[in-house]
Amino acid sequence: MLLERVRATSKSQRGPAEPRANGGPSRRNSSAFSPAKILEALERPSYTACEPVQRLSAFDEAIRILRLEQYVDNTTSSIDPSARQSLVRQIYYWLRPLFPVAFRKYLQRIALRDWSSIPFPKWPVDFTTERIMDEVWRQLLESNGGEALPFIWFWPEGQSSCCIMTHDVETATGRDFCKTMMEMERRHGITSAFEVVPEERYEVPEMYLQELRDGGCEVCLHGLNHDGHLFSSEAVFLERAQKINAYARSWGAVGFRSPVMYRNLAWLHAFQFSYDMSVPNVAHLDPQRGGCCTVMPYFIGDILELPLTTTQDYSLFHILQQRSLDLWKQQVAMIRERYGLISFIVHPDYVNEKWSSDLYDALLDYIAELRAQHGVWMALPKEVDAWWRARREMRLVQEHGDWRISGPRSEQARVAYASLKEGRVVYRVESSKAVAGVV
Ligand SMILES: [Zn+2]
Repeated sequence: MLLERVRATSKSQRGPAEPRANGGPSRRNSSAFSPAKILEALERPSYTACEPVQRLSAFDEAIRILRLEQYVDNTTSSIDPSARQSLVRQIYYWLRPLFPVAFRKYLQRIALRDWSSIPFPKWPVDFTTERIMDEVWRQLLESNGGEALPFIWFWPEGQSSCCIMTHDVETATGRDFCKTMMEMERRHGITSAFEVVPEERYEVPEMYLQELRDGGCEVCLHGLNHDGHLFSSEAVFLERAQKINAYARSWGAVGFRSPVMYRNLAWLHAFQFSYDMSVPNVAHLDPQRGGCCTVMPYFIGDILELPLTTTQDYSLFHILQQRSLDLWKQQVAMIRERYGLISFIVHPDYVNEKWSSDLYDALLDYIAELRAQHGVWMALPKEVDAWWRARREMRLVQEHGDWRISGPRSEQARVAYASLKEGRVVYRVESSKAVAGVV
């Protein structure tokens, strides 16, 4: 039943292949791919008579398509100015300032009302990529006679998973609430990243940016002017990308998040950022649907993607109309089971009332407890970016019969082992350092 619904959805979501910008990911082979096929392969691993190597390369291709969201036609054409839906979106954006806030929220609920019937990616967190990786491990382990296989653990010092807190600053009200948020965070020993809009929305005094940096926080770029048109055409995007790059250089920022999570990953290469945070794991509650179906960072060219893996505060409060931590806790528990990246967007604009700032305080309390009790690495996005880049350069080497790690920051890395236990892939992480060349 689920498979049939997925088949129907993926068929209607898939668009014609179209050429990509230079250096960007291509849609090659994506027409031969559907989420239904990969779910079928995962449910019945032996359904194909392919050679193991062919199956591994098919899984590799599936992961690539999922990460780049090429299974859904939401990159270029759906935000083409000539598209009907896009016209509605543009009109909405032009008229938006005229609508009362309550009416705006009502319109958004109407626009997103079908979200709970979308079968793929899976709400509230999708692990299709991790499930494919399990299958890859299973095949490797079986071909290794069932003996455990080593790899470099995901996070430094053998920590169990990772958490980043980020804040998109939407208005002058939000900007002015940042200091209060930082103080709340400081009480819990937590620092965060603030995504700032450089033009039109509000003044950005240097003193404000310096205050964020002085508080141990990170400054990122949040589009150019947040007018909803960043991806309206390639020409517009490329022109704005240059300006955004210039702001990033002058602010010393290395991270980007797109306004409203609008994105076209084929154009990402025009940015000079080290990392991006504009791809949701599952995007049912965002105007641009899709999702990368993973809770792990991944590279798009040389830019690291740190996916958004939990529901945004705005969607939680105003679309789902919940005022509790329940959904966030559920998502965190699911991500921790997969040792993944827990990433939050909490807007300073939406947590400045008593009830919402109390809720944010409770979330900080919960995160601090995860760090203290469960070895969750609480980090700035730029620290996760630096780690993931170092990890990419590390190598496993065998010395005197033991596995060790060589490369940058290898003293923080740990050797882990994958093995099969009652048919499931499980990991074991070495507790001590294993740096190559150190006796
Ligand atoms: Zn925004």
